[in-house]
Parts: sequence; C-alpha cells; structure tokens
Amino acid sequence: MRKKTIQTIIYTNNKKKIENMGNVSKWFGINTFNEEVMKSKLSKSMYSKMKKVMEGKENLTVDVANEVAHGMKEWALENGATHFAHWFLPLTGSTAEKHDSFLTYDENRKMVERFSGKELVRQEPDASSFPSGGLRATFEARGYTAWDPTSPAFLIEDKSGKTLCIPSIFISYNGYSLDQKSPLLKSVDVIENSVRKFLDVFGIEPKKVLSYAGVEQEFFLVDSLLASLRPDLTICGRTLIGAKPAKGQEMDDQYFGSIKERFIEYMRDVEHELYKLGIPLHTRHNEVAPHQFEFAPIFEDVNLACDHNQLLMEVLRKKAKDHNLFVSLHEKPFAGINGSGKHVNWNISADSLNMLDPGDNPHENMIFLFFLTAVLRGVYEHNDLLRASVASCSNDHRLGGHEAPPAIMSVFVGKHLTDVIQKIINNEFNEVNVKELINTGISKIPKITKDTTDRNRTSPFAFTGNKFEFRAVGSKQSISIPITILNVITADSLDYMRNILIEEMKDSDNDILKSIYNVVRKVLKQASDILFEGDNYSEEWRIEAEKRGLYNLKKSDEALKRFTDDKKIELLTKNNVFSKEELHARYEVEIERYCKEMLIEARLIRDMAQTIVLPALLEHQKLILENLKLIKELCQNQNIEFLNLESTNLIKKVDKILLNISKIDEVIRESECETNIENCACICSQNLNENINNLREVCDDIEKNISDKLWTLPKYSELLFVD
Ligand code: ADP
Ligand code: MG
Repeated sequence: MRKKTIQTIIYTNNKKKIENMGNVSKWFGINTFNEEVMKSKLSKSMYSKMKKVMEGKENLTVDVANEVAHGMKEWALENGATHFAHWFLPLTGSTAEKHDSFLTYDENRKMVERFSGKELVRQEPDASSFPSGGLRATFEARGYTAWDPTSPAFLIEDKSGKTLCIPSIFISYNGYSLDQKSPLLKSVDVIENSVRKFLDVFGIEPKKVLSYAGVEQEFFLVDSLLASLRPDLTICGRTLIGAKPAKGQEMDDQYFGSIKERFIEYMRDVEHELYKLGIPLHTRHNEVAPHQFEFAPIFEDVNLACDHNQLLMEVLRKKAKDHNLFVSLHEKPFAGINGSGKHVNWNISADSLNMLDPGDNPHENMIFLFFLTAVLRGVYEHNDLLRASVASCSNDHRLGGHEAPPAIMSVFVGKHLTDVIQKIINNEFNEVNVKELINTGISKIPKITKDTTDRNRTSPFAFTGNKFEFRAVGSKQSISIPITILNVITADSLDYMRNILIEEMKDSDNDILKSIYNVVRKVLKQASDILFEGDNYSEEWRIEAEKRGLYNLKKSDEALKRFTDDKKIELLTKNNVFSKEELHARYEVEIERYCKEMLIEARLIRDMAQTIVLPALLEHQKLILENLKLIKELCQNQNIEFLNLESTNLIKKVDKILLNISKIDEVIRESECETNIENCACICSQNLNENINNLREVCDDIEKNISDKLWTLPKYSELLFVD
C-alpha cells in the first residue's frame, strides 16, 4: 500500500494549470469591499461619514449603517454571492462564520434580497458551542458578533459560489469578549494613547498612530496520499511516530533553493486567491527543512495583519486539497527536523515617524531611544506574559524543546546598540559626546544593526533595524494575543517613563534631550538585564537568565498560569484590554485546549502503537521464527545464534511496547477522572508528555529494525522527499 501510493504519486502527479495572473495590481483586492468600491456604492456624504467611522473619529449611525449594508449587498450580488456571514475569530483558534441568505419576503410576500444596517452591525449566533471559559453560562447561550468596520468585508470563493464575509468581534450577552480580536483592537487604542501622550512632550500631534505587523508564516507540505496513510499527521498535524531518516536537513540544500514545480504551482494558486482578498503577499521561499516553506506579506496595521494571517492559513489549507497536498501548520510536525514559527515583525508609527527607526535629527533619535527603552523595560518586566502569549501544547515542542527560540524571553539588539546602551548605563557620555550621540550616533546604527541582527536566529525577540521581530509565536496561532501583549507592555512602560520624564524636566529647566537621556539611563540600568546577544540554546544562558530573574517557562501550563497572576491582571485590566473575568476565562479555555490536545495525541499514539506498530512487529517476529525453524530443519549445523538473539530482542520490544501502552492508558484514565482542569494540565504536562515520548522511542526503534515491507506508515524519507 505504502509503496504503491508512492508510485502513484510519482506517476500521476498531474500539473495543475494556474491561470495567468496578468497584471496583479490591476485586480488586487477584487474580492474586497474596499474604499474604492465603497465610494462607488455610497453617496458622497455617506462615504465621508463612513470614512470618519473607520478612522475612529465618529460613531456609526443607523443611516450610515443602512447605506453601507445596502451598498455591500449590491456589490455582493453583482459578484454572485447569495449569502452573508459575520466572520470572527472565536477562542477555538480558527475562524467561524454562520451564513444567512439575503433573501426575505417583502411587504407583498414577494421574495427580495435585503440587507439592513441592523443585520450588518450585529448578529446573534448561537454561542453555546464556542469556548467561553465559563463566561457564558450554558443557560445563557446568547453571544453577539459585532461588525468591525476597520477591516474590509470580503468575498470568500468556493468552487460553487461566493459568500460575503463581514469581519466581526464576538462578545457574550454581558459584554465579555469571547474572541481573539477584541483585545487586539483595545490594545491598539491603548498604545495609541500612550504614544500620543509621550509625543505631546515634544509638541508632536500625529494624525494617526498605528501598530504594524508583518507576519512571516512557515508551513510544511506533504503529498496528501501519503498524509492520508498517517493518522497522526491528519488528526494532530504532526507525526507522533517516525524514525529519523538517513537524510534530513543536514545538507543545507533546501533554504532559499529553487521551489519545485509542484509546490510553486500551489504557492501561485494561494497567492492568486490571496491577492483577490487584498492580502499583499510579498515573499515566498523554501525554508530550512525539506518540504518547508514561508510566505510573508507586506506589513499592515495589526488589525488587518491579524485577519489576513488567519485568511492566509485558511487558504493554505483549502488550496492544498486542490493540489493533492496536505499542509501542516503545526509547530513541530517532524521530530529532529526544524519546526515552524510565525515571525511577527512589529513596530509603532505616528504618521511617518517610525518609533523604532533611529532618525536623522536629535529629536527623532531621542524618541527612538526612549521608545526602544520602553520596549526593553516592557519585555523585562513582563517576559512571562510574552511567553504566555505564545503558549500552546504544540508550540512547547519548539520553545520547550531544543529548538529556536527557547522558552526564556530575551531581547537581541545587535552589538552597536548594545555598546550604546552600555555607555549610557555607565554614563560614559560627557557633554560633548552626548550631543554627538544624539545628533549622529544612533542614526548611524540601523544599517549596521540590520546586517548583524540576522546572525542571531536563536533570539526570541530581536531588533532588526527599524522594528522588532517576535520569533517565538507559534505557526498555527493567531497573532492577536502576542501583539496585544506587546502593545500593552510597551504602553505601560511609556506611561511609566513619561511620568519620570516630566519630573526630570522640572529639575533640568525643561532641557528635554538631557531629561530623556537621564530617564533612559535610569530605566536601562535594570531593564538591560533582558538583553542577550549570545547563543540562546546554551546552558550558560539558562543559568545566567535564572540569576537575572527571567522566567524559563518550558511548559505551557506554567506559562498560561501567568495570566492569572495578580500583578499581570492589574496591568491588563488597568487599560480595559481585559477584565479579570476575561483573563480567568481565557486561561481556562487555553489550559483546557492544552489538556485536550495532549490527550488526543496520547490516545492516538497508543492506538497506532497497538494497531499498527505491534502487528507489524509480531509479523516480523513470525518471519524470524519461521526462518529459525526452517534453518533448524534444513541446515542443522548452521550457527543460528544471531537469529536467536534477534528473536529475544523482538520479544523484549513487544514487552516494551505493551508496557508503555499500559502506562499511557493509566495516565489517560487518571486525567479523565480529574475534574480540576489545572490538575489535569499538570498530569498531562508532567506524565503524559514523557510517556508519549517513551512510547515513540520504542516505535521509532521498531520502524528502523523491521522489514520495510511490513511497515505501513509512510516514512520520513517519503513524507519529506517524495513529490
Ligand atoms: P526577513 O526577516 O526574512 O529578513 P524582513 O525583515 O525584511 O525579512 O521582513 C519580514 C517582514 O517584516 C515582512 O512582512 C515585512 O513587510 C515586515 N516589515 C518590514 N518593515 C516593517 C516595519 N517597519 N514594521 C513591521 N513590519 C515590517
Ligand atoms: Mg524577518
């Protein structure tokens, strides 16, 4: 079966013809209700009102909502859609949509298509099946989706039609957020507020303050026929069993290599769909591991970047089917092979002023230095929260395993910036060279830093010239919570530092540059403990980080717990990004997901071991025993010592496999009986994890040592090299 499948793949891999995309800029965003379409569908006055709503300058009124809804419906009908759906990001980690038709009866019981402002603004899906962490008692199933006018509506195409999707937030009957997007949107306001207050000190009043994200998405592609023979890949997105192949990624012949025909066809098809959705994909390349790839769009404001990344993941899955491919967005699909992450490039800009770009004049340089210090302090004070924001069962295989980046959150800024920071802390700048630092010094940094930064791929959070790159984010998670946390901790530090700055200015006759220098110096003295330029995998760093009081939360259950710490609750509730109840609820949802995922893996690997590996092993043993019998009968003088030994070994393996299965069964039973979810998580992270690994070790050993003919699961060499 396995071999036949491989032959089928090789001989029947028909090339799918991708239609010529032509001049993409001419039709880019054709499936979005973008500003241009809106302009053509609304009256002039309504359009200008709607623009103000989108910019957050005016509240939405009924007449505007009605006209936008009408315009949206007209556009959707013209494009062949019959239904609309509020599209939202519940706490399940994926997207949700409930389709409703535009059809309704008019006053004369005649069928017409209608879409009112009321329907556009709010929908009421049955919320009872979405996770809520207890925020929505089961008797109160109501939840509301509310239109987010800052992210354009779009048409999702399937083979038989189109659906109008309206980006929305999802809240409970009593106003608690039940989705990924609400906290993100709130955090955008929080950081905007803090940046404005800070820039006010300089007399700068920006029109817009935006947080931006550029998301590099990694993923693996496997032939779907092969994947279908692997229950672990199809169900968990990762292989639970699989021996190390003779060739892995050691030849370094994959990274940036030419993309094979089959995969580039798929990638073009994905791009085609995403361009129609107005997603500005920019980069595509092979990643380090075989069959691993990356897509990255041009950065956008975080709200759009979040929706677009979610759509990218959906389209990756959808299009894979058309190309007989299976896409794994799991953080660690293959043991011993690089995992996948989602590098989130992040910065804050006030109009054209990028807060993380050392500028051309003294003020811009000082703004940069102040802002940089605020980020460093934020990460230093709340490194646990950043770790928690990327916590999941699957991401633990990267962060908690021997893979970049580690679970200790630290910041890499490059040698030149480190030198500047060190000099500031040591107060090595005198009257003259402070001026020099301010006037020219920092502005020289970006180019040099950019060049050196990428050399440290082991850092979870790296400064890359004019932005930070958060590399610990999991490949399949939403970027929403990591960015929410970044925005909040930076805003908190900005406020803290601004208060000291105001005092400093009083003491220094309003010498703003000198005051900033002093504040930065004071804060960096402590916060610079978050800086680390060395090898983040090393044991020395683990010891040093512990001395510096940084968290090393290897397992997600410990990391998630930080969301319920009093100080963290205070920080996150202060600005209403979360309420205390929401934080507890999210913790509960995440920890429950953590347990469920691990239990699914445990059940699956024990089933695979029992029903696939063990029968193959017994079959192999039968062969050996038959062989032994034959040799004994036919060639009595033959030395059969090695066969005897092999047979004894096999019996030991059978024992081992049965023993490990029974251990897993026991822990599964124990965790299923546990009613307290925290205790359940503890059992999973401490016992189940280890047992899964132990059982895997036996299975992998068997794979390597029994007849290839008897092994039915496609091997790593096939999953990763057959195309
Ligand atoms: P790499 O890290 O692979 O060298 P880049 O750093 O150039 O690639 O870009 C990666 C991502 O960072 C892209 O999505 C890009 O649009 C985004 N990016 C570039 N500049 C910024 C910025 N100022 N703010 C946020 N994201 C940015
Ligand atoms: Mg990058």
